[in-house]
Amino acid sequence: VYGVTGATGHLGTFVITGLLAAGVEPGDIVAVARSSSKARDLIDRGVTVRIADYETPEALADAFAGVERLVMISGSEVGARAQQHANVVDAAVAAGVGLIAYTSLLNADTSKINLAEEHRFTEKYIKDSGIDHIFLRNGWYSENYAGSYAGAVQSGTLYGCAGEGKIAPASRENYALAAAIAVTKPEPGRIYELAGSEHLTLTDVAKAFTDVAKSTGENVGEISYVDLGFNGYHDALAKAQVPEPLRTFLPDWDAGIERGDLDSDSRDLQDLLGTESTPFEQTLAKEV
Ligand code: NDP
Repeated sequence: VYGVTGATGHLGTFVITGLLAAGVEPGDIVAVARSSSKARDLIDRGVTVRIADYETPEALADAFAGVERLVMISGSEVGARAQQHANVVDAAVAAGVGLIAYTSLLNADTSKINLAEEHRFTEKYIKDSGIDHIFLRNGWYSENYAGSYAGAVQSGTLYGCAGEGKIAPASRENYALAAAIAVTKPEPGRIYELAGSEHLTLTDVAKAFTDVAKSTGENVGEISYVDLGFNGYHDALAKAQVPEPLRTFLPDWDAGIERGDLDSDSRDLQDLLGTESTPFEQTLAKEV
């Protein structure tokens, strides 16, 4: 029996699709969600849905009853996740779960981006709990750039502060299918560094924006990447009234890209999938 937390999120939904594609029976999947209304589609697919929040340890332990392998999807409330993830691990141990597959962050042990700390904490917490585990260290989602697309098309410019640094993005679906494959053939203790097949600078991202815009018939010129430097980018985001915490996070993440924190030559993703990752441009075109 497989459990999936964050089951009603983007990644979780794809993980469940991946488990079903790998031949797992719907009745052998326990989807752990916060809201039953959001889980309607999962119920329709014959998956068992149990309700629990990462903030409520008892409900989590009840939800994990009978689960042998748990795909633990990292939460989305940055800053609150250390305690939340500890609650999930404690509940999994209490419920007798055999293995946790945790969705971490690419290069989590060395990455200096702000998100890495909670992932490092969680990886250590899982290790210290003594439970069998695998870590799925996901690189950047290609979808992350869909949010910058409209503004870049409008202004003809993608702003940032990543210099010539590179990302190795893959689609959420790629990471989710890899997670489903890894958890159905688990190698306890294994750490997967999951990076896409392309290694793109933000200049390449701007070029992909141009190509996608042109392919949809938009009347655009070349969209160019303009590097504003860390403080300049932060000021520009403030001026554009981008709300906190994103205003602080975006320059931090670009600085990470410049350092190489979000790039890797690992082929773990491709080895799991048995194929290259979905081209960045293809995912972007689907999202915008
Ligand atoms: P989503 O925001 O779509 O999904 C997050 C899931 O976590 C949702 O199902 C959400 O529940 C659930 N969740 C959040 N907080 C709690 C909580 N307190 N208790 C129970 N469930 C909770 O994100 P994605 O699916 O796209 O990504 C999955 C995770 O990957 C993110 O949560 C984040 O940690 C990380 N991420 C990685 C990125 C990358 O580029 N590598 C980019 C963005 C996020 P509900 O459905 O009820 O909202």
